Amino acid sequence: MAMLTHLECSACGATYDPERLHTVCPACGKPLLARYDLAGAARTLTRASLAQRPPGLWRYSEVLPVRNPDYAISLGEGGTPLRHTHRLGEALGMPNTYVKDETLNPTGSFKARGLCVAVSRAWELGARELAIPSAGNAAGAMSAYAAAVGLPAHVFMPDDTPAPFSVECRTLGANVTLIDGLITDCGARVRQGVEAHGWFAVSTLKEPYRLEGKKTMGYEFVEQLGWRMPDVIIYPTGGGTGLVGMWKAFAEMEALGLIGSERPRMVSVQSEGCAPIVRAFQEGSEHAAMWQGAATVASGLRVPAAIGDFLILQALRQSGGTAIAVSDAEMMHYADLLGATTGVFSSPEGAACLAAQKHLLAEGWLQPEELVVDFITGSGLKYAHLWQ
Ligand SMILES: *Cc1c(COP(=O)(O)O)cnc(C)c1O
Repeated sequence: MAMLTHLECSACGATYDPERLHTVCPACGKPLLARYDLAGAARTLTRASLAQRPPGLWRYSEVLPVRNPDYAISLGEGGTPLRHTHRLGEALGMPNTYVKDETLNPTGSFKARGLCVAVSRAWELGARELAIPSAGNAAGAMSAYAAAVGLPAHVFMPDDTPAPFSVECRTLGANVTLIDGLITDCGARVRQGVEAHGWFAVSTLKEPYRLEGKKTMGYEFVEQLGWRMPDVIIYPTGGGTGLVGMWKAFAEMEALGLIGSERPRMVSVQSEGCAPIVRAFQEGSEHAAMWQGAATVASGLRVPAAIGDFLILQALRQSGGTAIAVSDAEMMHYADLLGATTGVFSSPEGAACLAAQKHLLAEGWLQPEELVVDFITGSGLKYAHLWQ
């Protein structure tokens, strides 16, 4: 069913055979994007056919890379609720506030979507061992999908990573190595394993298919809104896979005839302690310079340099969106407000969306009646130490 045709470099446009394992573009080192025969996919991927399919990520199989359904691993990812939150909306002064509750994914975060598809496709293409440098949710998600099919998994984390993240990976059968250093040092250890043992690394945007998994959030919430576009999407941005993925999804959905040319304004929210995208957006730069001394309780947002920086900035600007930084204290405050008004226990990353929404309303960038979707990207359970 997959209508995958080729991989295309997001920067230089070079194209590659999608039936082989790839990381970044061999010519220029930038992310590769999966391309599909969308005219062919449009014959079966319609609003009517989707209405008949079971929930979950694999219902979009025409525009996902796995060829043989036997390799489509599933632990129950996707199909998460989009909730119109009346009490939260009232507290924020915006009655049309919706939250996409990604805490309900396997391993408690939306990282499951990306790693579901990346691990499935790597398995289909013959990868024998997987590796990842991660200080948080990505490692747990990779460990889960690797465990589901018995692929050995190697996780490298900084040794100050909170225990729930490493315990989760170990319990899911991964080999966990704690490194006295930063995430960049973990990346170096993964590269050694790639060279010495032929591991396949699934670092964010350094292989093409995590993006494909995360883009399903875009297909999903627009359908949940009855094929309406919201005015604004607010997204907590680290590596930017979800934001770039949803922007890609909208273009595909238009080509498929599922939507028209309307787009939401896309907002990136980051932490004041690590805001390279916000700074680059404000300076009008095409690329984001490395953020020195990155520090935030929101581990998913502690990404000082993102390989897909130019793709994030393009999506923000083309959509008429913006980028904003909020403090860690505000994230904790809004996690409490979200919890008490909706019953969703969010990690600080998702709560950052609400802080951003409040600021943007106060500045007049948002109007009170606008329809906003906040992405609650991960559960607070692995972050419980932050409240102690
Ligand atoms: C990884 C992560 C993010 C950032 O996601 P990107 O798509 O890489 O920008 C946000 N929230 C949580 C909970 C995460 O784990």
